[in-house]
Amino acid sequence: MTVRKSSYRSLASLGRDLSRCRACVDAGYPLESLPVHAPFAAQRAYLFGQAPGVVEGDERLPWRGRAGRTLRRWLELSEEEFYATFYCASVTRCYPGRAATGRGDRMPTPREQELCAFWRDQELELLRPRLIVTVGGLALRRLLGQASLTPCVGERLELDGTPVVPLPHPSGASGWLNVPANRARLEKASSLVRAELALL
Ligand code: SF4
Repeated sequence: MTVRKSSYRSLASLGRDLSRCRACVDAGYPLESLPVHAPFAAQRAYLFGQAPGVVEGDERLPWRGRAGRTLRRWLELSEEEFYATFYCASVTRCYPGRAATGRGDRMPTPREQELCAFWRDQELELLRPRLIVTVGGLALRRLLGQASLTPCVGERLELDGTPVVPLPHPSGASGWLNVPANRARLEKASSLVRAELALL
């Protein structure tokens, strides 16, 4: 049953309600997992991706599959360091299933994105992160309203005074990294994240 309070006093109580949210299913969307959520463990950085994949949906933990391993390699973080550093969130929190084209996963609809933004807003209010890293174009658009990912990768942006460093999505589904200039952008962005993490 979906429970949403008007505000939460802790990330622990938010996490209990988030873990059983069915708002999109109640609205008629065909989700293929329960919410993916790792408990708060005093992380000071907020990682905001697009949506869980099938592995994450099965394990109900974020960034468990190949894309997660790629992301940790980009950031030069071990699995343990990664989860201790980042509170992992995403535009939507349940595995949306495969795209109708058969290529990659289904993009959550704008209505699903809206329904799930409730959790992001509550988390940011409670966590007040010292660094936000967005992963992929949708996450950047939803958080900062930036229409285009490419010119933002390698830049340090801000959300209400908090540094935001955009990364591309590591899923391998797009050919973005085949462009040499984009690989240089990624290197710069990864360095920026590491530099910001060193300041936490
Ligand atoms: S995607 Fe978000 S809003 Fe939709 S059911 Fe999952 S947790 Fe709830």
